[in-house]
Parts: sequence; structure tokens; C-alpha cells
Amino acid sequence: MEKSQNQSWFDRIPKVELHLHLEGAIPYPALFKIISRNEGNESFPDLNTLKNKFRKYRNFPHFLEIWRWKNKFLQKYEDFTLISQAVAENLARQNILYAEIFFSPSDFAVNGLKPRELAIAIRKGLAKVPEIEIALVVDFVRSCGQENAARILEEIKDLQSLGIIGVGIGGAEKEFPPEMFTNTYKQARKLGFHTSAHAGEAVGAKSIWGAINNLGVDRIGHGIRAEEDSALIEHLAKHRIPLEMCPISNLRTKVVCTPEEHPVRRYFERGLMVTVNTDDPMMFGNSLADEYRLLEERLGFSKKEICGLIMNAVNSSWLPQEKKCSLIKSIQTTTSWKEVFGQISLS
Ligand SMILES: [Zn+2]
Repeated sequence: MEKSQNQSWFDRIPKVELHLHLEGAIPYPALFKIISRNEGNESFPDLNTLKNKFRKYRNFPHFLEIWRWKNKFLQKYEDFTLISQAVAENLARQNILYAEIFFSPSDFAVNGLKPRELAIAIRKGLAKVPEIEIALVVDFVRSCGQENAARILEEIKDLQSLGIIGVGIGGAEKEFPPEMFTNTYKQARKLGFHTSAHAGEAVGAKSIWGAINNLGVDRIGHGIRAEEDSALIEHLAKHRIPLEMCPISNLRTKVVCTPEEHPVRRYFERGLMVTVNTDDPMMFGNSLADEYRLLEERLGFSKKEICGLIMNAVNSSWLPQEKKCSLIKSIQTTTSWKEVFGQISLS
């Protein structure tokens, strides 16, 4: 259903999110509830004190440090049901119709939580919000190493029924290059999983080449530093390899210093398959509407071009073709779409 006309166009336009980490997207009240329940109120007497732990980072390693700190509060399966429901409700409120979201079982082994049971708990929470369809992508977490990745794959290999459709690697890109995970990705593809890898965020073009050549990925997470190698830009354009770009995330972790420095506009103009996403909205204080607003205000994207990015997201998603078609139809028949294109429908 179309949202209220009082909302801005950016809020009303139906959206698709392809790069979002469940544990980085927890609405603050849900995390506050879990911390109060598991730890008592001593560390965070109120919601604002908790919020102030996030949003500002010295650099990418500092961001990862806060990421790990926050994870220690997620101790029980029921915590994951709670956060999953809260994340799904939040996405649905933003008029996001479909999302593919990462979760990172390796980060919670230390809390005694197992991948299969985690996936069950997450799906239980997501199922309470039928307004949005959410598929799951398992992030192996690079710093846990290749043996751990192989073990996690073994444990989740028959969980397609819980909506696990893909695998990825995030985290410390520099110390754990894509090549380390070649065999696990090969096996994952054989099992029918789609694949993505964070690359070209903390490390340059080399890590993107590694993800393409060694891991055979379907999509690249970020890819912001691809332009360091013109042959790579050529390759990405020729093969239409989708980039899951996250401009506000890159600003917050200081991969770029200003929006104007971000290559998303240059890549879009060069014909790369660019999608725009939020990455970790709880940690960065952003929404997908904020991302699109930034593109218009600082990088000269028109609303037509933003609609093009939304179509790129649908077409780069891992939905079956018939579901892509019905998603496109439901987006292009909204008033907010027609405000941009009139009654003419794009294919
Ligand atoms: Zn990410």
C-alpha cells in the first residue's frame, strides 16, 4: 500500500536493499531492550547513552571494534528473534519491499550459539512481518578463517528452506584476502548458493579481482576502490557485475571524506551495475531514503536516475525471474513512481 503523501518522495518510493547486516541494523530500542534484559541497566541508563556509542568512527578498524563490542550483548536465540522482527518492521516502515540481509553466525560461536539454531530464530522473527520479503545471506566473517567458513557452510548447506540463499565474506579485508576462501566458495556455488564478497572497501582493486577471479562472485560488496584500476572498471562494466555500494557507510568509516569524492556517480555514468544500500543503519544512523537523498543533493542524481538504481537492485537481486517481474510491476504502479515517469511504465 502506498504510504502517506505527507512523507517525502524518498520515503514513499518502494525500495530494495541488497547489502544490510542484520546485526548492524538493530533499531536502538530493540538493542537497548536486549542489553537491559541481559546485563541490567548499569552500562546504559537510557537510549541516548547507547546511541552515542555509534555513528562516529575514527576509521574502519575502529568501526570493526564497535561492531564486535555490540555483538557481545546478543547472547540468546530469542535475542535474534527479537532483533529480526524489529529489523523487518523497520525496513517495512521505510517502504522497502524486498531485502537480502547478511547474518554472521561466526561472531556468536563464542556466546555458544549455533548457525542452524540462529537461522531458525532469525526466520521466526522475520516471519512475524509478512509485509516484507527477506532472504538471508550467511557472512562467513573473514577473520574467523577458511576452516571456520567451510564448517559454517557444512552446517547451513541444507537450510534453503529457511530462506538462506547466499553466502558472503565481510570484516577484515586486508588481513584475510578473498583467495583464502576459494574452496569454500566453490563448494557453496555447487550447493546452489549465490555469492557476494566485501571487496575494494578497505583494500584496493586487487581484492575485487580476487573476489571475481578466485571466488567467482555474483556481486561485489562495496567495490568503492575499483577505479584504482581502469581494466577492472572495464571488466565490471562489460560483465555487468553488480556493485552493492553503500555511500554513507563509506563516509562514516572514512573510506571517503566527502560525498563528492565517492565514485558512485562516476560508476553509474560509466554504465556499471550500481546498487545503493545502507550496510549497517544502526551503526551509521542512515536509512535507504537518506542514501537516495544524499545522491540527489550532493551528487546530482535525478529522481529518474534514482529509480534506475532501484531497478538495478531488483535486477541484481537473487530473486527468481518471475518474482523480479512482479516486484517491478508493484514498484512501477505506485503514485511515487508515476510522479517521476508519468503513466509510462519502464521494462
Ligand atoms: Zn557490509
